[in-house]
Amino acid sequence: MRETTSTCCYCGVGCGVIIEHDGVQITGVRGDPQHPANFGRLCSKGATLHLTASASVTRQTRLLSPMRRLQRGGPPQPVSWDDALTHTADELARLHRAHGPESIGVYISGQLLTEDYYVFNKLVKGLLGSNQIDTNSRLCMSSAVAGYKATLGADAPPCAYDDLQHAQTVFITGSNMAWAHPVLMRRLEDARRANPTQKWIVADPRRTETAESADLHLPLMPGSDVALYHGLLHLLLWEGLVDTGFIAQHTEGFDALRDRVRDHTPRETARLTGLAEDDIVTAARWFGSHTPTLSLYCQGLNQSSSGTAKNAALINLHLATGQIGKPGAGPFSLTGQPNAMGGREVGGMANLLSGHRDLGDPTHRAEVARLWGVPEVPAKPGLTAVEMFEAAADGQVKALWIACTNPAQSMPDQATVRRALERAELVIVQEAFATTATCAFADVLLPATTWGEKDGTVTNSERRISRVRPAVPAPGEARHDWLIARDVAQQLAARLMPERAALFDYPTAESIWLEHRESTRGRDLDITGLSYEMLETRGPQQWPLPEGGSAGRVRLYEDGHFATANGRARFADVAFTPLAEPRDARYPFSLNTGRLRDQWHGMSRTGTLGRLYGHEGWPGVDMHPQDLQRLRLNEGDLVRVRSRRGEVLLPVRRSDSVKPTQAFIAMHWGEEVLSGRDSAGRALAGVNAVTLPSFCPQSRQPELKHAAVAIDKV
Ligand code: SF4
Repeated sequence: MRETTSTCCYCGVGCGVIIEHDGVQITGVRGDPQHPANFGRLCSKGATLHLTASASVTRQTRLLSPMRRLQRGGPPQPVSWDDALTHTADELARLHRAHGPESIGVYISGQLLTEDYYVFNKLVKGLLGSNQIDTNSRLCMSSAVAGYKATLGADAPPCAYDDLQHAQTVFITGSNMAWAHPVLMRRLEDARRANPTQKWIVADPRRTETAESADLHLPLMPGSDVALYHGLLHLLLWEGLVDTGFIAQHTEGFDALRDRVRDHTPRETARLTGLAEDDIVTAARWFGSHTPTLSLYCQGLNQSSSGTAKNAALINLHLATGQIGKPGAGPFSLTGQPNAMGGREVGGMANLLSGHRDLGDPTHRAEVARLWGVPEVPAKPGLTAVEMFEAAADGQVKALWIACTNPAQSMPDQATVRRALERAELVIVQEAFATTATCAFADVLLPATTWGEKDGTVTNSERRISRVRPAVPAPGEARHDWLIARDVAQQLAARLMPERAALFDYPTAESIWLEHRESTRGRDLDITGLSYEMLETRGPQQWPLPEGGSAGRVRLYEDGHFATANGRARFADVAFTPLAEPRDARYPFSLNTGRLRDQWHGMSRTGTLGRLYGHEGWPGVDMHPQDLQRLRLNEGDLVRVRSRRGEVLLPVRRSDSVKPTQAFIAMHWGEEVLSGRDSAGRALAGVNAVTLPSFCPQSRQPELKHAAVAIDKV
């Protein structure tokens, strides 16, 4: 029996695992007691990882050889890697020549490793000559990125998990961390046990398991977060709880914000949020006087048509009270996916560049071009996730190369996404699993390695870089994602720009990482003092860790100097804007979507285990008992949940976790169990048959957390 240390592949907590194996098969998994994210703990998903990698599950779920579909609608046929790579490169080169670089869209994933991400990003921006690459992180953390950059000057979460134990007030807003980040929740429970004076405020429209354990639950109306934060700031000012010294010394732009929140009185805030005035006052007093105060937040803020404003308005509260840059204080975004952070570090999105550089900055573009040895990096931003699929549905994007993600289930407005996948001339799906809905649309299927087989690094929510190590060989003919991207890049270069083939001469994952490391030199995330060897001997490290350093930095901005040009943090004077699609007489319910405790994303891995259905065994729509009575519905009745875009059929569930006129459907269920239709009657799957594609104008992150729906008995 052998053991290999690695990380869990599910969420952004980034727990360390020890994989037990015999060199061929993974036989067990346990938490790594040495890993500083989890100290040996795992949640129900992490603790069952080995079962999802068994030989029988692998045989049933994995994509084990390259395949090509010779005609749309027909079955895919196994082909050799040579054939698959040659065909992929031939077709991409043909479309590139015929329609230009922007006719190719590459859509990747926050579950890829940093090394995978780096090669994909360079392939698009350094070879194809566009910025037409985006990722499912756009659906996850892009509002957090935009919020940090607008206020603190850099996409850098300032806090660390260690802060949980130092906080006196913990403000959990837009996050059901008991289910979405369970191991972190256990650490928070430990902190409260050790310090019973610690208070938890949870702002969430639903009474989630997290809200159940709060000292104060604020069940605000969907989408009213900015109104709440402005109302809290109004009270902090009124009660003299702002830190005027910190504001004067370390920030700018406060006057405009103070003017804006003047009208956000407790009464007005109560009207906009649906909260009790007394609760708003209590929350403000705890936030401003029972300090240090730590805010933990996630998709409730990010997946919104005003996601950037929500993030920035929350950060405003920390700047106004000086609750940042010290133990137990700060705004702390909890990353959804395991490596959304690493993807941002290498700039693997349509509007970013390597090493947290900005595409809009000519100096940054020149730096990246120099690093890669290319004449230039194009200035025009690429299309972001929703826009890319809309452009494919309109016929402008001709090829979609999708890696490690399942847009035919996870993207909003499935009718458009599926039209895009049907209309594109070439759909390449690079996947570990043969069972995803997107595989059915692929012209070329490229089998990829996954957890327990991959080699590289990831970065978790607290900026901590961990090694991901392979325990067993790849099954069948699966290959590493970076290797597939490298080989396609070299073949494409041979067809389009032979002089650039050497740009992708990477023999190992480490060789890619070393180039990435160099790209961070002098940047806020500088890791030039880090190496694979140091990760081996000293364990996971937080960035920054510049050359000469011996350990990463626990928390940022402790000296009050921020990552802006003048070192001052910026207050964001953002307006409260209503939901993109408010409920009305025809669509009278507010539909919210979110996670279950024991499932992950589209269930391609967790859905293979019977025991993970023990917590929630079937899809349902949660509705308040009053609404059930009003609509004469009983628990288990089949209902049609209808929006302007489509509908799904599913049983109803009685729940007082949602308020009257609100409903909740878990995001995980796919076409096997949750059938749907678009408004033209075509078959769709999952809750995203009804969600809407409206997105935040700054972050371009779609509003997956709210759609107006009608609910009728079938
Ligand atoms: Fe994996 Fe997240 Fe659970 Fe940790 S908390 S074991 S990273 S799913």
